[in-house]
Amino acid sequence: MAGAAFIGEHSFANNEFLIALNRPDKKDLEKAFSFGKKIAGLLNRIENPAELAPVNVPGNFPYKQGTSFGSFSVIDVTQDCDSCGLCITACPKNSIDEANNYATLDDHCIYCCACIKACPQQARILKNSPIKEKAKWLTENCALRKEPQIFLPG
Ligand code: SF4
Ligand code: SF4
Repeated sequence: MAGAAFIGEHSFANNEFLIALNRPDKKDLEKAFSFGKKIAGLLNRIENPAELAPVNVPGNFPYKQGTSFGSFSVIDVTQDCDSCGLCITACPKNSIDEANNYATLDDHCIYCCACIKACPQQARILKNSPIKEKAKWLTENCALRKEPQIFLPG
């Protein structure tokens, strides 16, 4: 009955790679709240969602195939590591080896960068790799702020 495209910070984003850094922000959340109120208003006016006109959402279907980079080493751990273990808690793939100086298990890593963001010592850093190149490319080519888009029936 409705759709929206909201902007979220890219998983690679940090102070070096400014890819939608700190989004959603206050303005985005105000738009999300307003979007929710519009949907609630629609629901209050109708008996059945089938009564609503179709929602037209631009885009392409079928989706493009994803790109596989293969498996390679992406993250280095510097001497600033103080063994706090927060990266292990943050990692969704259980791919950090505590017994090996918190090194990344490259075969399991999905390059989400959650461990880099979680590290209070900034001891986890992106190595030169296709992922770092992609982060640079996104920073250079996706720097302009984009606003959320909302799609309602009719
Ligand atoms: S990049 Fe993601 S998957 Fe890889 S080690 Fe860090 S948190 Fe785990
Ligand atoms: S979060 Fe950073 S400082 Fe803590 S164990 Fe992991 S790499 Fe070391």
